[in-house]
Amino acid sequence: MRILVVEDDALLGDAIQAGLKQSGNAVDWVRDGVLADQALSTEPYDAVVLDWGLPRLSGLEVLRRLRARKTATPVLILTARDTVEDRIQGLDGGADDYLVKPFDMGELSARLRALVRRSSGSVTPLLQVGEVVLDVARHSVTFQGELVDLSSREFAVLHALILNVGKVLSRAQLEEKLYAWGEEVESNTVEVHIHHLRRKLSPGLIATIRGVGYMIRN
Ligand code: CA
Repeated sequence: MRILVVEDDALLGDAIQAGLKQSGNAVDWVRDGVLADQALSTEPYDAVVLDWGLPRLSGLEVLRRLRARKTATPVLILTARDTVEDRIQGLDGGADDYLVKPFDMGELSARLRALVRRSSGSVTPLLQVGEVVLDVARHSVTFQGELVDLSSREFAVLHALILNVGKVLSRAQLEEKLYAWGEEVESNTVEVHIHHLRRKLSPGLIATIRGVGYMIRN
């Protein structure tokens, strides 16, 4: 998943970015509200971790602008312990969940997985298409009940296609799911990952829509 972290505290932001990267996500980190607003206007994030107290533009204002653009990206807000009002304001302002600082990284990852899963319309923790079952929490995939060994990027491509089942994703859209800012995008990687996924899972799983992109049909 591609995740935006908005946190002005350097230590905490660094820890969140590292933790979410470790669980296989492409993570961008910005430290103020204006940069967050710009990033959210231009990049297709799967989820946002949004600190409430931010320089230049508050978390609430970033959230308001995001929702004003009719963007449904799940948002989890981070608030201080004694600010029930902030949490109420956040949830009423369009946030989907919150965590009170200090929090556990494992819990943050799990809440983000749940938010993205629900926003894709899935009610179960496992994502399934035909005989392919994706367990995002365990970062594992089975085909016909057998575990399949996928690289982290292959998993990310498959995850993006399954979350958007029935829709075509262009190569550029898939690349945006795979790479955070500053990570070098190698040419043809998406094609290579798709080729590997077809070989490891099933040749007919991912359809190529000529001139447009790739899709998994439902
Ligand atoms: Ca802060």
